[in-house]
Amino acid sequence: MASTLHHWAGGKEFTGTSGKFGDVTDPATGAVTVQVPFASTADADQVITAAAEAFPGWRDTSLTKRTQIMFRFRELLNERKDEVAQLITAEHGKVLSDATGEVTRGLEVVEFACGMPHLLKGGFTEQASTGVDVHSVRQPLGVVGIISPFNFPIMVPLWFTPVAIAAGNTVVLKPSEKDPSAALWMAELWQQAGLPDGVFNVLNGDKTAVDALLTDQRVASISFVGSTPIAQYVYETATANGKRVQALGGAKNHMVVLPDADLDLAADQAVNAGYGSAGERCMAISAVVAVGDIADELVDKIKTRTEALKTGDGRRGSDMGPLVTAQAKERVTGFIAEGEQAGATLVVDGRTVSPDADGSGGFFVGPTLFDHVGTEMSIYTAEIFGPVLSVIRVDSYQQAIELINANPYGNGTAIFTNDGGAARRFSNEVQVGMIGINVPIPVPMSYYSFGGWKSSLFGDTHAHGTEGVHFFTRGKVITSRWLDPSHGGINLGFPQND
Ligand code: NAD
Repeated sequence: MASTLHHWAGGKEFTGTSGKFGDVTDPATGAVTVQVPFASTADADQVITAAAEAFPGWRDTSLTKRTQIMFRFRELLNERKDEVAQLITAEHGKVLSDATGEVTRGLEVVEFACGMPHLLKGGFTEQASTGVDVHSVRQPLGVVGIISPFNFPIMVPLWFTPVAIAAGNTVVLKPSEKDPSAALWMAELWQQAGLPDGVFNVLNGDKTAVDALLTDQRVASISFVGSTPIAQYVYETATANGKRVQALGGAKNHMVVLPDADLDLAADQAVNAGYGSAGERCMAISAVVAVGDIADELVDKIKTRTEALKTGDGRRGSDMGPLVTAQAKERVTGFIAEGEQAGATLVVDGRTVSPDADGSGGFFVGPTLFDHVGTEMSIYTAEIFGPVLSVIRVDSYQQAIELINANPYGNGTAIFTNDGGAARRFSNEVQVGMIGINVPIPVPMSYYSFGGWKSSLFGDTHAHGTEGVHFFTRGKVITSRWLDPSHGGINLGFPQND
């Protein structure tokens, strides 16, 4: 029988009382490896209580001490990143190098948060009015909730957690029930770094756990990342409960290839960005928009590269691993069948893949390439979230930009060209939050902020960078006058400056 995981509250494992568990599988073999508890409302209450009780002490801990813990956490995470990468591959399925890459991108946010003393510095105006000074501070919110998706089990929690903690908040993280072990591993690492008990907590579960976070009056904010329908639900429910919310949703990312582009570079990058992590990235390219008469040559180059990819167990040096669950595999193969029926040209069919893995229980779909995809087809309109790349042929730059701007999502996009003027115009006109110029996956550095537009973000604040610091703090402005012998006596008029 598979062993069971736990929640993490107040620096200790906590089994919970719900008696409900979900299976966590190894996607490369299909075997159930552990079971994760699904919190009841009472379990959630206990975890939130641990965070609420830890808040006053953590808020009052000096910035120097908080920052020292951040530096220690950074060192530990860096030293032990291979360990968590193994855990991620075993539950998510992505290949080991990709799992290590995700840890490294999360580490960058920890490094950013190590600079919190500088980021929290307020402003000061001396003699704003006669004898009056004004200064501003930013203070932590309290208990903050983070709800993360399956596709980046450590990087997405790290988009928020270090910034929230360094700013003086306490955290309840609700990881994806599909790959929860990385979050629990991180909880122990925070403890080893010296973080006081209760500052970082993990609540495992499904909708019941999420709803508890969205409605509990002690939770001040919600940072959510996941699919668009759930992002919208989380945004509406949590804001109705008086919380500050940033809810990052799904995506359909286009890569425009102009006729003057280096087609070998474009083909390499379409393959990297389309099939990396088996397409289970919110910044994956799923639609290649070929402009003008380059389409035949481009498709040919992508096809050659796609056919050379090795699909298999992420621990065996494969290029691409399995999908996360059996349901994900069924969904993606369903889309491939729909694309074929709708009349798109199936250039490479991933359903026929022979993976390098033990047994036949893994959730593998090989890289799949469609050409002549129409914008009414489900393979274009849906976020497939699998290794399926669609090529759409258009005649002009204008058609390409209209296509992207008409799409309900606006997470990331890229243009491949050697024409600086065209690239500049694209970055100005496109209605998308993150733009790559000859860069297929333009994930911003940690000191910029990550987030999309339109149905890819509910709320107005992106993750990490200065927007993240702003999200996890509230501003206060203090106007002060130190009494001197000439104070003005009684005046009921509205304060005016002199
Ligand atoms: P998901 O929406 O199914 O789940 C996300 C989280 O919400 C999980 O913790 C899950 O337990 C919880 N959840 C699921 N159903 C719920 C419900 N009915 N009520 C309350 N909570 C619920 O997403 P996923 O499949 O884990 O992740 C893939 C999705 O995340 C894709 O759409 C992808 O584009 C998106 N994503 C977006 C970004 C971004 O930055 N915009 C980043 C990563 C992933």
